[in-house]
Amino acid sequence: AAEWERFTASTAASGAHNEQASKSLPLGVTSSFQHWDPYPISIASARGAWLTDVDGRRLLDLSMGFGAMLVGHLNPVVIEEVQKALTDVGTLFVTPSPTATEVAERFQRRFGLDMLRFTNSGTESLMYAVRAARAFTGRKAIIKIEGGYHGGYDALQVSVKPGLDEIGPADAPTPQVPFDVEAGTVYVVPYNDLDRLTAILDAYGSEIAAMVLEPVLENIAIVVPDEGYLAGVRAACDAHGVVLIFDEVKTGLTAGYAGASQRLGIKPDLVTLAKSIGGGFPLAAFGGRKEVMEVVVDGRMAHFGTYNGNPLVMAAAKAVDEICTHEALDAAEKINIGTLDAVDEIIAEFKLPAHTVALGVKGCITWSPTPVRNYRDYKATDFQVAELSWLWGVNRGILTPPGLDEQWLVSLAHTQAEMDVLVSDFRALAEALRA
Ligand code: PLP
Repeated sequence: AAEWERFTASTAASGAHNEQASKSLPLGVTSSFQHWDPYPISIASARGAWLTDVDGRRLLDLSMGFGAMLVGHLNPVVIEEVQKALTDVGTLFVTPSPTATEVAERFQRRFGLDMLRFTNSGTESLMYAVRAARAFTGRKAIIKIEGGYHGGYDALQVSVKPGLDEIGPADAPTPQVPFDVEAGTVYVVPYNDLDRLTAILDAYGSEIAAMVLEPVLENIAIVVPDEGYLAGVRAACDAHGVVLIFDEVKTGLTAGYAGASQRLGIKPDLVTLAKSIGGGFPLAAFGGRKEVMEVVVDGRMAHFGTYNGNPLVMAAAKAVDEICTHEALDAAEKINIGTLDAVDEIIAEFKLPAHTVALGVKGCITWSPTPVRNYRDYKATDFQVAELSWLWGVNRGILTPPGLDEQWLVSLAHTQAEMDVLVSDFRALAEALRA
């Protein structure tokens, strides 16, 4: 209660802003993930690893736009490229353009994709990846992981302006976008459970188009695969002709140079990318095996989008690809490892019922003494202490992600000194918890 009083006392302008914003925007936010009780902190500006809120407080940003701001806020290289596009190129052509092809080639090389298409959000990429898998297999059902989040796609998209010659009877499927494309069963399996997956595939494999999962779950803190799990998923999907889709919207560049797939050595059929690849601009992509992506070539599926591959976002993406070298990412990961080691020491010293988990430049503290292997384990962690830990940070100028399900990100703009702030803040929390 004392921490909540402290929160409201220091964030009066955010409170007032939320009240005003709620008159035009439901909950006063532009995405439901931005909302928390009693009200979210409103940010006026950002630079590097720092935010300034509407109360004029400086906050160390460890959320970094849910990981999208891997290169840091207002990264000078990104800004320079985007400014060049603004002054010399243009903002939208809705035609092919050399920059889009160049970025496609860069991503092709980096992520080892045969072919890819750009979209504007992770949600869209997931929707089209599933649709491509359905078109490729001629099946409808999909499998997903219990507790896994993949954006706001609601599996509903019907008859998108087909040509007159393509229209048959009113309720008949058209070649490009089958009317009932989104119908179909969704089977849900726990993460790290090959037996349940195999049982579903043995029973229904011939109806299943795709298995969609984050290779490492990052919407319930960080949950890593058991030894052999992803290889098992790969083999099970192969055995039943199921398209394996890795959602790397969050893991993308933050898990390593070419995502979690490359880091863990398992190649999916399709991958979805977003967040970190755009340097803060709305860029996402889906791509992978040529045979599957060819459904877009041969007309089994169409993929649309006015803003896809627009020059402004492409300029940012090119800069991000240039900035995110092995060296730059390794340096940030090294800072992350040092931070995690220091936090682990505090956990041991104070005998806290917690442990740290990391992937690449991301890390988190999970309030459970034992490893979390799936969503049910995660739900059994101590959310009360997790919330206190978050609030404690916010009240002392550190913004970790607002959901308790998120993780911190060491961006390319964070220094060791900044991450040391997190460590000393955590020590203070441990002392307060002991008292
Ligand atoms: N997939 C995952 C794993 C995500 O975390 C998110 C967003 O948080 C999405 C997909 C959806 O991405 P977007 O918010 O760009 O639509």
